[in-house]
Amino acid sequence: MKRLDLLVRGGAVISSDAESIADIAVSDGKIVEVTPEISGAAREEIDARGLHVLPGVVDVHVHFNEPGRANWEGWATGSAACAAGGTTTVAEMPLNSHPPTLDGPSFDAKENAAGTSSRVDFALWGGLTPVNLELMEELAERGVIGFKAFMSSSGIDDFPAADDATLFDGMQRAASLGLPVAVHAENDALTSALAARAIAAGQIGARDYLASRPVIAEVEAIARAILFAEETGCALHVVHVSTGRGVAQIAAARARGVDVTAETCPHYLVFDEDDLERLGATAKCAPPLRSRCEVDQLWQALAQRDIQILASDHSPGPPALKTGDDFFRIWGGISGCQSLLTSLLSAGHIAREIPLTELATITAAIPASRLRMTAKGSIAAGYDADLVLVNLRESFTLRADDLRYRHKQSPFTGMTFSSRPKRTILRGRTVAIDGTAVGNPRGRLVTPGLPVPVPLPARR
Ligand SMILES: [Zn+2]
Repeated sequence: MKRLDLLVRGGAVISSDAESIADIAVSDGKIVEVTPEISGAAREEIDARGLHVLPGVVDVHVHFNEPGRANWEGWATGSAACAAGGTTTVAEMPLNSHPPTLDGPSFDAKENAAGTSSRVDFALWGGLTPVNLELMEELAERGVIGFKAFMSSSGIDDFPAADDATLFDGMQRAASLGLPVAVHAENDALTSALAARAIAAGQIGARDYLASRPVIAEVEAIARAILFAEETGCALHVVHVSTGRGVAQIAAARARGVDVTAETCPHYLVFDEDDLERLGATAKCAPPLRSRCEVDQLWQALAQRDIQILASDHSPGPPALKTGDDFFRIWGGISGCQSLLTSLLSAGHIAREIPLTELATITAAIPASRLRMTAKGSIAAGYDADLVLVNLRESFTLRADDLRYRHKQSPFTGMTFSSRPKRTILRGRTVAIDGTAVGNPRGRLVTPGLPVPVPLPARR
């Protein structure tokens, strides 16, 4: 028998449907066996007794902003933060890099930047905007994982919002290319008018900003996106859903067979609108943080799998844009990719008793299958050996110094978590230990596998 590269021994291994104490054997970056007490030796052995072993997180929503705005984050620091937090694959958004990923050459430029500096594997989203509909096929040929559209202003001039005609046309094209469309769903006419009215009246505080992006703006846009998806046959992914009613519409559409998935982010589960006032600029995002009632509804939806995907929407900006009192001027984006897993384990599993198998499903298995990352997302023979070893009995307080982001600013700073990622493994090699990235960057591009019909994940 061929000598193994790695044996991870004695951990509580979490898959989508089971938890059991087992050894994991790895050869050439792939899992070859998962069973108790594998005999034989390996080049490297890791003692995981007392730890839980989860599939590395597949975070399908990050903004690393390189090339062009690497001073906002960049692949080196963004991917180091992911590795530190237990994420082994990211799908990176077409903005806020410059140029945005709207055609073949911009895809190549980003693949180059990521290939040089990324410590985790990466897939790339392409843009769906009024200025690049004709280039979607070119992006598909390069290997984009899907297309991202903004139904409201993106906040960045070089990534225009998709008006209804653009979105409808783009969805038809995406459907024929066999790729999903991800939407930022907020009604643009409503949010723009409410913002303009508030600014004109000099009402620029946190509560004014919240009022300019009401729940109905999200609910209406999700309804419209679902109708378009149903009409075009396009697979739809609604990013960062922040309201119970938004999730409920997606659940109802799924029940009648529409191919649509819902994503939410740790910040919508951990914080509420009072936290925006308390934390200030660092907690501004769009859609905004919501009332405690909405937060409770999101947890309930997540527990019954009406939310299928958990992602960070890590979207930092330079400190000059993340300070001040004018909530309409502050950059809207939250830094959270490093704390995604620990916040979910602490608030979801330890505090709310959501099973670890379920958390592995929404952080790894479903995100990977939804975007056809066929080698990712599960701890089973044949999959990439992407693992995170966590200690569910070790609490720690996240300090600014612990953050591996370019800018050590996050609303999660100062929080005490009751679980800690101890070691992250990418394709059989350790890429982070105790919150610090190790080794050299070796992230690879992940492109979508063959378009096989993926059954929609069932409701629990
Ligand atoms: Zn985003």
